[in-house]
Amino acid sequence: MRLIELYKSVQGESSFTGMPCIFVRFAGCNLRCSWCDSTYTFHGGQPFTEDEVVAQIEALTPCTLVEFTGGEPMLHARELLPLMDRLLSDRDTRYTLMIETSGERPLGDVPVAVHKIVDVKCPGSGPAFGSFRTSNLDTLTVRDEVKFVLRDRRDYDFARDFVQQHLQTRMEAGTLGGILLSPAFAQNPSPLRTADNMELDARDLVQWMLDDGLPARLSLQVHKFIWEPQKKGV
Ligand code: SF4
Repeated sequence: MRLIELYKSVQGESSFTGMPCIFVRFAGCNLRCSWCDSTYTFHGGQPFTEDEVVAQIEALTPCTLVEFTGGEPMLHARELLPLMDRLLSDRDTRYTLMIETSGERPLGDVPVAVHKIVDVKCPGSGPAFGSFRTSNLDTLTVRDEVKFVLRDRRDYDFARDFVQQHLQTRMEAGTLGGILLSPAFAQNPSPLRTADNMELDARDLVQWMLDDGLPARLSLQVHKFIWEPQKKGV
């Protein structure tokens, strides 16, 4: 499998925000979101065997939360799924696994113990809009969270309608772990660790969420406030 980087930091998004986490970042993506902050993953990377990845993860314990991200990690499903099974079967370490994915690839074979963070693309994502595979909704469980990255009111309206059509009853029934609304960051942010680098003013987003009573969580990418927004490997 081709990896861009493997490192330990704190989780910047989802209900695991702030927890120590090992990040395994895969190379390559089949989408091109307009606001992508990981364009450096599109090309390159280094080949790793499964044994090499496991050894690198083990070297970063006692942290036991591991996120597979990218790029798009599900492009590497043939190697990733056995790796997940191997880590989940480690009864000594008891890893908690996460995957950050667009949901464009089928997710039915991801082990149910893995926490899926599925990023449904909004209109403002440009060419990636409409890429979500609707059949993946049937794979979601209480461990999983659905994320929307928002540039503007149009994106919010799309997310609200998607939530009300597909997710609200799952939240009410307790069969979905969460819904995340996350303001997009500017493509060329200042080096300052400031909310001014977000394309959508979080104050507006909060007001819209309150007005509509959405069962969603405001999600700020806290690593872009802890460190400079363009810093990699954090
Ligand atoms: S799916 Fe992720 S890595 Fe791929 S273009 Fe979109 S934001 Fe970037």
